[in-house]
Amino acid sequence: MLINFKDKNSLLLFSKAKKKYDIQIIGAGIIGISISNFLLKYKSNLKILLIERGRFINNAQAKKQNNSVKFKGLSIKGDSRVFGVGGSSLTWGNIISNITNDELSNKWPINAGAIDRYCKDVSNILNLAYSTKDKNLKKNERYFSYPIQPINFKNYLNTSKIDLLYNCNVDKVCEENKCCISIFKNQKKEIKIKSSQIILSLGTLEIIKLLHNSIKSKHLPKVNKKILGKYFMNHPKFNIGEIKFLKKNIYIKKFLLKKNDNHFSYIGISLPKKIKKKFDLLNSYVSFKPKIYSELENKINASKNKLYKLKNRALLKMIKLIDYFNFFLNKRQFLMKVFLEMEPKKENQVKIDKNNKIKVFNFISNKEIKTIKILRDYILKKYSSDYFNEEKKNITKKFIYKYAQDASHHMGGTIYDHKIKNSFVDKNLKIIGSKNIFICSSSFFPTSGSVNPTIIILAFALRLSKHILKIKKI
Ligand SMILES: Cc1cc2nc3c(=O)[nH]c(=O)nc-3n(C[C@H](O)[C@H](O)[C@H](O)COP(=O)(O)OP(=O)(O)OC[C@H]3O[C@@H](n4cnc5c(N)ncnc54)[C@H](O)[C@@H]3O)c2cc1C
Repeated sequence: MLINFKDKNSLLLFSKAKKKYDIQIIGAGIIGISISNFLLKYKSNLKILLIERGRFINNAQAKKQNNSVKFKGLSIKGDSRVFGVGGSSLTWGNIISNITNDELSNKWPINAGAIDRYCKDVSNILNLAYSTKDKNLKKNERYFSYPIQPINFKNYLNTSKIDLLYNCNVDKVCEENKCCISIFKNQKKEIKIKSSQIILSLGTLEIIKLLHNSIKSKHLPKVNKKILGKYFMNHPKFNIGEIKFLKKNIYIKKFLLKKNDNHFSYIGISLPKKIKKKFDLLNSYVSFKPKIYSELENKINASKNKLYKLKNRALLKMIKLIDYFNFFLNKRQFLMKVFLEMEPKKENQVKIDKNNKIKVFNFISNKEIKTIKILRDYILKKYSSDYFNEEKKNITKKFIYKYAQDASHHMGGTIYDHKIKNSFVDKNLKIIGSKNIFICSSSFFPTSGSVNPTIIILAFALRLSKHILKIKKI
């Protein structure tokens, strides 16, 4: 059943039906839609209500949204979240990399091996390209892939089996008499919907806001409010310089973006374990791109002149064709783009101000800067034939705040910790101090690693679905 919260008739039909739900899932993005499918896969008669603040939009409408928030430190892009059925899958890249022990710390509810197994299961169910590994990888090389047509999770929605209430912004949640309740407003009237369980899959920033409002209105009195919003993390990404003099014996094509049958792939280079351990560094990796490609792409994007765009597109295609045959590829200059893990830091947090607006505090630490510098030097020494004559940018906090981009990977804020007093959720992602409210989002990540997070959230979504079905109540 489809219910449009902004349509009186639709709402009337919904309220007349007086349906009882086993589970409410709040947020019909990548995770909310996937959880509803996982739950139904194992128990097809479950009564599920999915609630979504946005409406049905297409990819172009999603790209035009500006959902900016205030920030201090590293910027948060206005297009880093999409409000609509399908969530951020309407604009995302769908890039996936395999999970390793190295990328995850020992602070997670389960170990990397177990997460890897869930990732494999999820990728089988959803047909993702996880574990399509390149056999020639060295230990510190990472394989990334994404489908030519990124998955739009809107297409996985099955409204013949679940109810979707869209255009409905949930403000708060609470628990009363063994029931979970979602609370939202219709004009000025407060509406409440009950169920046995609630899963919050609104995305990191919105989950924090919803929980902040619930706590503020004394609806969740026992949760660990001191932790809420703290330890926010992201993956800053930016160019850390270029290689001008590539060594002749490097087969650079191995690392560059390539098109396979139905997906693109590239290889990133991380620091070897030994160096990371010796200097106590974070996870990070560099990917290469010929400088001339970026220059032409920037020109094409910046220009409004159709003819100029056409000319440069043709030039870019021609250069790529020449590179395909390797004639000049090794003579090109290569940009080094870094993706960086951020440490979980108390001062990096998401706050909700008096006007109920989100504000993100997201600062760079010395350890993060040290990691980038050592990674840059490692790459230059290994891949350049003239390390001393390569230009080395002075990587400072100012430089990073100026050039780093938000990777739209918002993590932390309702973190898991092995010690209950430092944790917002338990190992099954239930909010500590609640009976039946769960979180499924990268907001529970205790550490961030440096690779794209969605496959990990999906892995935990599958695990959570199985866990919820074990609970006797449903
Ligand atoms: C441009 C872009 C590129 C990305 N590329 C990649 C990538 O290549 N690889 C990768 O792994 N990750 C990528 N990500 C990150 C990825 O999109 C997120 O990890 C993923 O979307 C998380 O899924 P989610 O369901 O938690 O959140 P979302 O997909 O954001 O869904 C949250 C949903 O909740 C709804 N909602 C919010 N507030 C409320 C409310 N109060 N009431 C009801 N509903 C609400 C929203 O409208 C939305 O539909 C990218 C993100 C962006 C923006």
